Amino acid sequence: MSKRCNKCSKNDAIYLRQYSGEFLCKKCFVKSVEYKAKRTISKFSMIKHGDRVAVAVSGGKDSLALLNILKNTLRGIDPELIAITVDEGIQGYRDESLDIVKNFCSMIGVENRVVSFSELFGISMDRAMEIRPSEKISSCSMCGTFRRRAIDLISESTGANVIATGHNLDDYVQTFLINLFAGDVERIGWTYPDPVEYGTGGLKKIKPLMEIYEKELVLYAIHTNIPFQTEECPYKDESIRSAFRAHLNNLEKIHPGIKYNAYNSILKIAKRLKESPKNTGNTTLTTTNLSSDNVISQEHRKCELCNRDSSNKICSVCRTLNILTEGN
Ligand code: SF4
Ligand code: ZN
Repeated sequence: MSKRCNKCSKNDAIYLRQYSGEFLCKKCFVKSVEYKAKRTISKFSMIKHGDRVAVAVSGGKDSLALLNILKNTLRGIDPELIAITVDEGIQGYRDESLDIVKNFCSMIGVENRVVSFSELFGISMDRAMEIRPSEKISSCSMCGTFRRRAIDLISESTGANVIATGHNLDDYVQTFLINLFAGDVERIGWTYPDPVEYGTGGLKKIKPLMEIYEKELVLYAIHTNIPFQTEECPYKDESIRSAFRAHLNNLEKIHPGIKYNAYNSILKIAKRLKESPKNTGNTTLTTTNLSSDNVISQEHRKCELCNRDSSNKICSVCRTLNILTEGN
């Protein structure tokens, strides 16, 4: 026998939210996901009236759900939205998602700007994978380094003052574990979601979906008919993140709500670390600080090659490009 929705008591439930024990119908489930994102945005003052928000949209479920949620729920604040998409140059994979994003954006009436690695850095991911001198230079770390810079550049060019990304609660907990196991305690403090201005352009980065389970975003996308790419990238490396992801999913099956508890604890730890004397006064984090570089110091300085903010003499993008082009 089907269960009734615990919220409206009218419709049949389609989802059991294990960690709260609630049965929800499609309508109430969709509303609850949108409400959670809205609550996160307001709790951390992520978006305010008049902001121009560049939404990083890759074509996956999280980023498309984010765009849909921002479009549907922020009528009161009414920010200007622009979808920005990075084309890494991965043949047969990225082409499909570019089409998905383009069609979805035109359907909901949001401008979509695309920028490619080739245009910005003179090299595509396909080419980078061909010429990388060693497999030790992992595909995802190269790609991530270039993508973060590409998102900054395209956002600046659109005049945006906020960059919104689709990171979810699972991503947040995994990132904490990665930093913890890498012994990178300071970086944990930087993950506290108060929007921090960084770089010279005064851009803020926000993650409005950080309190929503990945699983619920898949369901949200399905129940709101958002077409999203399911095919995996051919260069996806089996990073430690995948190991933590699998482990956390197993734990969640046995102990529903454990990820949410972990999220709440991490938030408190991150807040304490952010406010600790070592970190205060460092509200201007540089782009490179936020990447996975070996950070020498948090001093604000410029890359000697590209003149972008960097915590090292040479920024991670220029270093990666040097490694790729040396001897080629
Ligand atoms: Fe880039 Fe790795 Fe994502 Fe592929 S899986 S798009 S290589 S970050
Ligand atoms: Zn540089």
